[in-house]
Amino acid sequence: MVVLFQPHRYTRTQALADEFGKALQAADLVFITDVYPASELPIPGISGQTLVDAMAPHGDVPAKFLPNTSTAHHQVGNALELGDLLITLGAGNVHEVGARIVTDLKILDEMRGLMPAGEIDGKLYEPMRKHTTLLVGGPAQFWLEPHSFYAFAFLVDYCRGRGLPIRVVGRGSNLLVRDGGIRGAVIHPSGGVFSELSIDAKGHVTAGVGVRLKKLASFAGAHGIGGFEWREGIPGNVGGSLRMNAGAMGIETFDQVVRVTFLDEDGVIRTRERDEIVATYRNVQEIRRNFALQAVFKGKNDSHENIKQRWQESRDKRKESQPIAASAGCTFKNPELIPAGRLIDSMGLKGKSVGQAAVSEAHANFIVNNGKATAGEILTLIESIQKSAREERSIELETEVKIIGDDETQF
Ligand SMILES: Cc1cc2nc3c(=O)[nH]c(=O)nc-3n(C[C@H](O)[C@H](O)[C@H](O)COP(=O)(O)OP(=O)(O)OC[C@H]3O[C@@H](n4cnc5c(N)ncnc54)[C@H](O)[C@@H]3O)c2cc1C
Repeated sequence: MVVLFQPHRYTRTQALADEFGKALQAADLVFITDVYPASELPIPGISGQTLVDAMAPHGDVPAKFLPNTSTAHHQVGNALELGDLLITLGAGNVHEVGARIVTDLKILDEMRGLMPAGEIDGKLYEPMRKHTTLLVGGPAQFWLEPHSFYAFAFLVDYCRGRGLPIRVVGRGSNLLVRDGGIRGAVIHPSGGVFSELSIDAKGHVTAGVGVRLKKLASFAGAHGIGGFEWREGIPGNVGGSLRMNAGAMGIETFDQVVRVTFLDEDGVIRTRERDEIVATYRNVQEIRRNFALQAVFKGKNDSHENIKQRWQESRDKRKESQPIAASAGCTFKNPELIPAGRLIDSMGLKGKSVGQAAVSEAHANFIVNNGKATAGEILTLIESIQKSAREERSIELETEVKIIGDDETQF
């Protein structure tokens, strides 16, 4: 039983705090909004937090104060598990929070209910900071995890039919999600067929888009297939690496692609051979509107010793040249004349910060989150670097990091 309680009037909250603290122990999880004043003036020190504090002496039911009622549905809705009962209690406008959750929950339930059990996992208002390596980003209205091609295709069809915008997210290691979150569906293919890896008689490796790049490299290596080692330190998934044509140590993803299976704009699952796909520097236009599902990669037969050595070389190189702090990898694409990191360094911007976001001292093309940076701080820093490059060097820096979502919540 999850309870969202809106205290009514400051005087009553103050006078009955202890009794409320006791009564609320009947729930399993409690959220408390700010006081609904009902024409009273505020009493200093009395707020929803007063009741959270009043609960503590009476038991260990978790409780949280949500001062902003207009976004309270995000935390409450995200906390709900299948089978939970949510009760909104209060004489003010707290029922509006319940109504918002119910509207979205009905849609989520319908999506799950129309597919066989276990094919789709989903959550409302999932915080994107939990799914990005930069550790920032507001909530995703519908966080959806399909586990089969069919479930993925169904979700795309369902969302398009209802005008819900769709985003696909892998490991979130090349993403900057704005603080207002993402309206619509965020599809995260994972588990089931998306986590599968296999190898055929030719030594070609088939990987679902939810497979981590490090896992793909170690799987190939364990089967005596070399050439995948450069992926060991890239924290993304196969899907994101296909979209971004990720690369390192002079190799790019599409140098090793044999074919890609994807869901096209009409919801049809197609397979395209490598020579039918145009892949450029950190961009595969074809996968911009289509959704990658699976890919086949080729490497070269090699000894375990050689594979191990290249793996170690890649690790050593990253250790000495990249920051440990949270980041989304390289922020900017390299302009034609000079690598972005060298350009930023040469403008004296290493260490420049906005709030908790800073240009890394280890590598100037990395922006790091030194604590609780917001997406807003990171964006301000990005814009100020772009401005310096434009004004001082006449260079337009284009972001490699994909920036998505809204500054203000739209749902
Ligand atoms: C410490 C660090 C080091 C890095 N080093 C490198 C490096 O050496 N080289 C390099 O190239 N990158 C590097 N990156 C960036 C990033 O890891 C890669 O671009 C990675 O391939 C992104 O994969 P992802 O799963 O995280 O994608 P996400 O960040 O989740 O998504 C990236 C883009 O791909 C799209 N996308 C994701 N999955 C699919 C899909 N199934 N179908 C269609 N579109 C999809 C998303 O919508 C988004 O536009 C680094 C990042 C970090 C944090």
